[in-house]
Amino acid sequence: MSRYTDAVCRLCRREGMKLYLKGEKCYTEKCPVHKRPVPPGMHGQGRRKLSEFGIRLREKQKLRRIYGVFETQFKTYFQRAAEVKGITGVRLLQLLETRLDNVVYRLGFATSRKEARQMVLHGHVAVNGKKITIPSFQVKPGHVITPTARGREHPRVKELAQTGLRTLPTWLEFTVERLEGKVRGLPAREEIDVPVQEQLIVEYYSR
Ligand code: SF4
Repeated sequence: MSRYTDAVCRLCRREGMKLYLKGEKCYTEKCPVHKRPVPPGMHGQGRRKLSEFGIRLREKQKLRRIYGVFETQFKTYFQRAAEVKGITGVRLLQLLETRLDNVVYRLGFATSRKEARQMVLHGHVAVNGKKITIPSFQVKPGHVITPTARGREHPRVKELAQTGLRTLPTWLEFTVERLEGKVRGLPAREEIDVPVQEQLIVEYYSR
């Protein structure tokens, strides 16, 4: 499976906003969006105004980068969202938000989606008691997410067990004593705090 391995902070600078891809560093003064708030590259400062197409393209790229999903997979998510009943843009966000790596991040087992993806790949996470090593695994209402025996030894999980500090969206619940997260339902749009205008992404694919 291929992964983006270049400097991720460039992605935030390209989108002109913090996408929170690096965990703790994102919350410090070291964040390059503070230090160098211009697009990367030699001509970053002299970029032209975006076209209508460009605006929609950037919105799509932003969402894709927030969740760490490659182009082909993102398109598949969009097609799945368009096939089911409901508002396509919201459905797309729900599909991304209920990826296992994102849920592990939201529950606080990891400080970034990238770290959460690594934890899943390394067999640190179980769903309903069964180890799952697929970051894109889709969680459903009623699913219970816990660290595996190995996962309990992970420094982030130990930290979480000690502090128990979590700010959770209402579609998730967490019991610190058992280190157990539960999916209560599908997230509503207002519970998905990603700074994108999903309608622009729908328009991008409807060209
Ligand atoms: Fe983005 Fe985080 Fe890097 Fe800042 S530190 S540019 S928010 S990935």
